[in-house]
Amino acid sequence: RMKSKEMRILFLGLDNAGKTTILKYISHEDTSKTSPTLGFNIKTLSLPDSPYTLNIWDVGGQRTLRPYWRNYFEQTDAIVWVVDSADRMRLNDCKEELHALLTEDRLAGASLLVLANKQDLPGALGMSDIELGLSLNTITTHNWKIFASSAMTGAHVFSGLQWVVNDVA
Ligand code: GDP
Repeated sequence: RMKSKEMRILFLGLDNAGKTTILKYISHEDTSKTSPTLGFNIKTLSLPDSPYTLNIWDVGGQRTLRPYWRNYFEQTDAIVWVVDSADRMRLNDCKEELHALLTEDRLAGASLLVLANKQDLPGALGMSDIELGLSLNTITTHNWKIFASSAMTGAHVFSGLQWVVNDVA
């Protein structure tokens, strides 16, 4: 029997974007209540018909916690950048944090999946507005792709993950 290969994926983004809720959705837990992530959550799972074991790290995104993100960069295969698509006020902050992250040496080879999350909310910006707001088209240092997701309905959560796993593999 083949030993499964491991992949290390970091879930990052501003606080309240939906990282913890997405992680609960993909591990089939109750998504109705989450509390702010102060330290980190780690989940191990595999996708159907995939030889990879995913070790997913969900690190708290509050401003005071962002300096600690760097402690998790080592050996990271992929970054999942989760965006609250309804939070227009912080879209620029979100852009700046993302682009700062992408300059980190230790993340140089990592693939980037952007989840334009909370698409179920009436005020959510669509995928092309998020793409523009985050200046994704200026990113040339990392393979990236954006999906419009909802942790509530589960829309595009697994297809996004599937993309990033294929991109790393
Ligand atoms: P985190 O700080 O990025 O881990 O964010 P959480 O997962 O704690 O989610 C923050 C809040 O947004 C919670 O009240 C969640 O229930 C809510 N939330 C997360 N994802 C979605 C989504 O896709 N749609 C809606 N409507 N609410 C969401």
